[in-house]
Amino acid sequence: MSHLVHRSLRSNPPLAVSGQGIYVRDAAGHTIIDGSGGAAVACLGHGHPRVIAAMKAQIDTLCYAHTSLFSCESAEKLADKLVGHAPGGLTHAYFCSSGSEGNEAALKMARQYFLEIGQPQRRHFIARRQSYHGNTLGALAAGGNAMRRAPYAPILSDAFSHVSPCYAYRDRADSESDADYVARLAAELEAEFQRLGPDTVIAFIAETVVGATLGCVAGVPGYFEAMRAVCDHHGALLILDEVMSGVGRCGTMHAWEQEGIRPDIQVIAKGLGGGYQPIGGILVHGRVIEGLNGGSGSFMHGHTYQAHPVACAAALAVQEVIEQDGLIANVQAMGRLLEQRLTERLGNHRNIGDIRGRGLFWAVEFVTDRATRTPFDPALKLNERVKREAFDRGLACYPMGGTIDGRLGDHAILAPPYIVDAAQIEMIVERFGDAIDAAIASI
Ligand code: PMP
Repeated sequence: MSHLVHRSLRSNPPLAVSGQGIYVRDAAGHTIIDGSGGAAVACLGHGHPRVIAAMKAQIDTLCYAHTSLFSCESAEKLADKLVGHAPGGLTHAYFCSSGSEGNEAALKMARQYFLEIGQPQRRHFIARRQSYHGNTLGALAAGGNAMRRAPYAPILSDAFSHVSPCYAYRDRADSESDADYVARLAAELEAEFQRLGPDTVIAFIAETVVGATLGCVAGVPGYFEAMRAVCDHHGALLILDEVMSGVGRCGTMHAWEQEGIRPDIQVIAKGLGGGYQPIGGILVHGRVIEGLNGGSGSFMHGHTYQAHPVACAAALAVQEVIEQDGLIANVQAMGRLLEQRLTERLGNHRNIGDIRGRGLFWAVEFVTDRATRTPFDPALKLNERVKREAFDRGLACYPMGGTIDGRLGDHAILAPPYIVDAAQIEMIVERFGDAIDAAIASI
């Protein structure tokens, strides 16, 4: 019997014992393709020698330095690599240990910014339904995943309200153009600002490409420009959560580069350290830093393990490998192949309603009927079936859904490591397609 909380009797995953490249080996001797890099984490796959060497070198040199007393070289270099060239005006970085912590930091920094610049009345955040920003209480309150929120509803902050996500597959009328849909969503955001009092809103927070809650859903063209304009009009900040979609995953270093906008604060995590160490962070626009510097000159927030030397050394090595090996170009090329092969294999499948994504971040959404877009009954646990059938075929993918918001169907995410090659993409799609067929046949 396992004594681990997450390894309960109901969910008994295989015991992973080693990993190399895109493969993980389990205790029973199976070799499994890590087709989703966990939850879009393992961007370099497993056992990357340069990352491991960098971690070992850091461990041999300095394992810990408390940030109230010291800075450290790996954190300085990591910040320099990420924001030294000020992408989109982002000039500063703060490092923590997870995506949830990154969102907590983003929310608190945004509030503190307005305190420092003399706008203490700003106390509301607008987020989106069917979103996920993490499991700590602030991040959970920001999130709009009804299923995850429900048990904790009485203890979640009421500083957060939610508007519709940009989810064209289900929410845009067939007769509606992208421009009309965007105008409708912008009007909804504007109405929410008005309801709350426009000068009381701190920020609008959104995932640039929605990850686990919707399954790789990007905004339609013009969406983020319109949201940015509403925020700018009212002097509120835009926080983009790129914990899953950032750091190259969508085919550009930052997913927002494809949207014609820039955030004021950006949250990153998974692809930052690629799973080699727990690390997340925020990238902050110069305007926000100026606000803090003009006031208290410090960020009233912090964690004992922030900017951890070994975590930063691992993340720095991951970022260097991505750059030196030209892996973002590989994400683009392999992403196009993945899209093409998914479309060929599943595009006409009677139970696949939508295939969508960017870069190496793709999902399929399951329906009982393509015309009506009816989801499967959550009680059937299609997502669990897909996961099991995929494992049986030597593929780990990331199926979610069923009961999210009581209206969504199941979906499954593929997010292979950036090092994946064409033959491996073929294998992933073949196993994924077969697993889906078997899962549906089992119902
Ligand atoms: N934001 C997004 C968009 C995420 O996908 C996740 C993790 N799935 C988080 C935040 C929370 O990150 P973590 O699990 O590292 O706390």
